[in-house]
Amino acid sequence: MRLDIVTIFPEYLEPLNVSLVGKARARGQLDVRIHDLREWTHDRHNTVDDTPYGGGPGMVMKPEPWGEALDSIIESGSGSGDSGDGSADASGDGFDGAEAARPVLVVPTPSGKPFTQQLAVELSEKPWLVFTPARYEGIDRRVIEEYGDRLDVREVSIGDYVLAGGEAPVLVMVEAIARLLPGVLGNAESHRDDSFAPGAMADLLEGPVYTKPPQWRGRGIPDVLLSGHHGKIARWRRDEAFRRTVENRPDLIHRADPAAFDKKDRET
Ligand code: SAM
Repeated sequence: MRLDIVTIFPEYLEPLNVSLVGKARARGQLDVRIHDLREWTHDRHNTVDDTPYGGGPGMVMKPEPWGEALDSIIESGSGSGDSGDGSADASGDGFDGAEAARPVLVVPTPSGKPFTQQLAVELSEKPWLVFTPARYEGIDRRVIEEYGDRLDVREVSIGDYVLAGGEAPVLVMVEAIARLLPGVLGNAESHRDDSFAPGAMADLLEGPVYTKPPQWRGRGIPDVLLSGHHGKIARWRRDEAFRRTVENRPDLIHRADPAAFDKKDRET
């Protein structure tokens, strides 16, 4: 998978060199390219912002640098599908296919649609994503419209709060997406039981987890986890997940399909 990120703070994205994402990059599973938006400015001060039409506080990001940056990045992917490491489609992820010639443009904004596990799954199946983390009051609207005419553009919010910039949301989204890519997590099963994961536990948060030692500060672990009885353990996990969801996120239960829950769930 190829990821391009355009920002005025490339150093903010240093964490993409460590841990899971860093390892996926080192293994060639992720081709991450970070671009400094100011490289596409032409004035002495490398200006990327200007005052808003209609007045009001704050500054707005100018369309010209974004347009030049995005044109150049999109152009770099058309034709060969060069993954940047000297070989076309080195990862074998289909990057040199027709769909890869046009990226999905992911625009972080508090006014976007919520970033959910479902969207992370959908985006993890795309060969190429371009992220546009903004600063100030955001990007001139015409940029979103311009690329909306030619690309799949997703305006995405990571939560109902306002951050100073889109770099932290990009770190959040990239990590959520990267861990879903085949071969990135050591154990491919790991994310199947996660909170929000599609499948039998869909719409439920994950319940509590335990590891050794069996006693810690006088606290034991639930007997069922030592029973070796897979059926009982699965039932216990589901009950705990259900309990935790009712307590912390009753909204998830209310919007779930009632058919997804069995008699025991309802008793819990
Ligand atoms: N005036 C904008 C509004 O109220 O919608 C907020 C702009 S915010 C200060 C600057 C940038 O940070 C946004 O353009 C976006 O890139 C990013 N950002 C802030 N909060 C975000 C969130 N909850 N989700 C995604 N991106 C966010």
